[in-house]
Amino acid sequence: MLARVTVAAVYVSCDRIVTCAPGALPRRRDFDLGILEGAAMRIENGRVSWIGSREEAPDESVYLQGTIVPGLVDAHTHPVYAGSRLHEFALRAKGATYQEIHAAGGGIHSTVRATRAASYEELLARTERVLARMLRHGTTTLEAKSGYGLDEATEIRDLQLLGDVASPMRIVRTYLGAHAMPPDFADRREEFVKTLIEQTLPRIARERLADACDVFCEDGAFTLDESRRILAAARAHGLDVKAHAEEFAYLGGARMAASLGARSVDHLLSLPEHDFAALAESGTVAVLLPGTTLFLGKERYAPARGLIDAGVPVAIATDFNAGSCMTESLPMAMSLAVLKMKMTPEEALIGATVNASHALGVSDVCGSLEVGKAADFLVLEVDDPREWLYHFGVNLVREVWIAGRRVSDDIPC
Ligand SMILES: [Zn+2]
Repeated sequence: MLARVTVAAVYVSCDRIVTCAPGALPRRRDFDLGILEGAAMRIENGRVSWIGSREEAPDESVYLQGTIVPGLVDAHTHPVYAGSRLHEFALRAKGATYQEIHAAGGGIHSTVRATRAASYEELLARTERVLARMLRHGTTTLEAKSGYGLDEATEIRDLQLLGDVASPMRIVRTYLGAHAMPPDFADRREEFVKTLIEQTLPRIARERLADACDVFCEDGAFTLDESRRILAAARAHGLDVKAHAEEFAYLGGARMAASLGARSVDHLLSLPEHDFAALAESGTVAVLLPGTTLFLGKERYAPARGLIDAGVPVAIATDFNAGSCMTESLPMAMSLAVLKMKMTPEEALIGATVNASHALGVSDVCGSLEVGKAADFLVLEVDDPREWLYHFGVNLVREVWIAGRRVSDDIPC
């Protein structure tokens, strides 16, 4: 006979809880943070089972000094890679552009070569270190893309690796086999796209190696038509779809992906105003990545204000990757959203919690602190959540809890 295991409830209390509730729908116009002063929370089986005032909580509740916010959701990252692109960082300081570095054999292809050559153990250890740094800065859920293998064997290895990572974080896996055209397929584009659609994608879906499929729809990467075929095939195989779109040039990728029911379209620096309404109508989340503009030394940021004013749900993510945005800090990207894209701190915070959870299809689990959702939260050393972004580039995360367990004590430094 099975013994019934009852897990005792744990109460935590603090100076205030920023619930970011309600999180059932992506936020478009209402960015109220749901702040409860002198609040407490009951946690059972890793989930929030009650939220109320501190006076109502039992005396033995654990007092956490500071402000509790939901664990952050990073909706766009490329954490599985080998090699270093440090030299490009220095080259850009001398004036080289991302596209010039790419054309000279650097860029994505240098990371692809290093990633293909790396051992599974080396890559796994590197990825775990990246995730640990993200966690220390407050990310508890992340979307992680493959995309530095390009060939089937390496892409599948890297998606499997993301399933093997030793981390308490929630990981949503995305297949990005269409990240770049491998140089040896430059004259055989159709062969590459066909293999991806007819062979690799069905296998990834069948073996449940990914939750979503992404494509880099851009001049020098994949055309609008190639991108559409890849995403349509992914949908047909039951995967969520999303796209890197309108980062450098406007190809219409965001509209195309939205018409296929994409959960998100990402970057959007070159998205013209006449496409805003189509995005607002589709409900697709615009994932904006201001760290990338900063890191590439450019001036043009995504049109966050226009998108929000048009009613498009906006999320903020890091775009962590070795080439164009080397930061694991989502709060840094949120500060940039305020400083460079003129979002309010409230919009940035909702963008990295509720709206990001919708971009990943995990809004029933995380993104806000509400009864029934996971007890994923951070304790910040601030009195006002806006102070977190105001104090830019400095880590104010005191504790990280995932599924009701304090995990910040276990993070290796
Ligand atoms: Zn990306």
